[in-house]
Amino acid sequence: RRRIAVMTSGGDAPGMNGAVRAVVRTAIANDCEAYAIYEGYDGLVKGVDKKGNEMIKKMEFDDVRGFLGVGGTKIGTARCKEFRERAGRLRAAKNMIQKGIDALIICGGDGSLTGADLFREEWPGLLEELVKTGELSGNDIQPHKHLNIVGLVGSIDNDLSMTDATIGCYSSLERICRNVDDVYDTAASHQRAFVVEVMGRHCGWLALMAGLATGADYVFLPENPPPEDWQDKMGKIVETHRARGKRTTIVIVAEGAHDRNLQKIPAQEVTKFLAESLGLDARTTVLGHTQRGGVPCFYDRFLGTLQGAEAVKAVLDTTPETPSPVICMIENKIVRRPLLEAVKQTKEVAKAIESKDFGRAMSLRDAE
Ligand code: ATP
Repeated sequence: RRRIAVMTSGGDAPGMNGAVRAVVRTAIANDCEAYAIYEGYDGLVKGVDKKGNEMIKKMEFDDVRGFLGVGGTKIGTARCKEFRERAGRLRAAKNMIQKGIDALIICGGDGSLTGADLFREEWPGLLEELVKTGELSGNDIQPHKHLNIVGLVGSIDNDLSMTDATIGCYSSLERICRNVDDVYDTAASHQRAFVVEVMGRHCGWLALMAGLATGADYVFLPENPPPEDWQDKMGKIVETHRARGKRTTIVIVAEGAHDRNLQKIPAQEVTKFLAESLGLDARTTVLGHTQRGGVPCFYDRFLGTLQGAEAVKAVLDTTPETPSPVICMIENKIVRRPLLEAVKQTKEVAKAIESKDFGRAMSLRDAE
């Protein structure tokens, strides 16, 4: 029986639990054994925690009951320095072989997926080294010469290229919209201005969509920084809206927002301008981690479930020669794409921003 493990890694995102549930149950339905790796790569490297509890646990059908409606990730996630080093990956390979696992489904961001693909590339070498040092025997490694890696993208930022949506992004957007609606009531009552900072380092998707869905007056995105004279431009827009009788001003700032010279534009700076130059009663609201938590919305349950099921199918029908796939959603269809290609394209956007080629950053986003 094939043993397939699932892990969540990097930042948590609502819907990850649905993906874990789908992997476990689809694996069992396909006559495989399912394993969960607790606390991301930390669990893979350590194998047991400080109290001696297993971090790579066999999962039964019932173990994932009730997962669909729960936010965060019930199997835990972590950032793991050791896995970045070959020594850590050696320990991880040994732990996997000892459990007879040679397929790993990872739900995480681009960092987690890059690490996973590197692990797969090194796998035969890692096993040989473990045999050489006497930690494993030739018989141990014989049935597990190839490692299957399949990626699922769990990220509230919706920042991976080649997929229309990442697991968690719509729950996060929903929460942002509700939070903006909440401050809108206060804004309307007191005729205030609110500058709302939302997550998104290189990706302005949350900010842009939240701006669209809440009718914000102005939006700051990392891919498309405002013009040099943004204070004037924004000021005119806000004053025009106020002159038309609008009692509120809502400005959405992505946490990675900057000007065309890559100088950060903090939400507080925007608030200060609205207060000091336009004379508005202006406040800053940083939504922070409230954007990550809470119950997953329908779409993230749907996405996690379909992608988790597809990931198991991808494990079962990829050959050692097939590049590691990442499961994507394109025009409402679940599809597989080469994991490394998707990560590479994602990094291209960050590179374009870093080299101030905002036209390219925007056209890459358009192409997504
Ligand atoms: P998020 O988008 O939420 O930040 P992420 O998956 O990109 O998620 P990272 O912190 O980049 O988050 O990566 C999570 C973990 O994946 C790291 O702590 C590390 O263990 C592993 N990892 C990331 N990049 C690599 C790499 N290049 N080589 C090996 N392991 C890596």
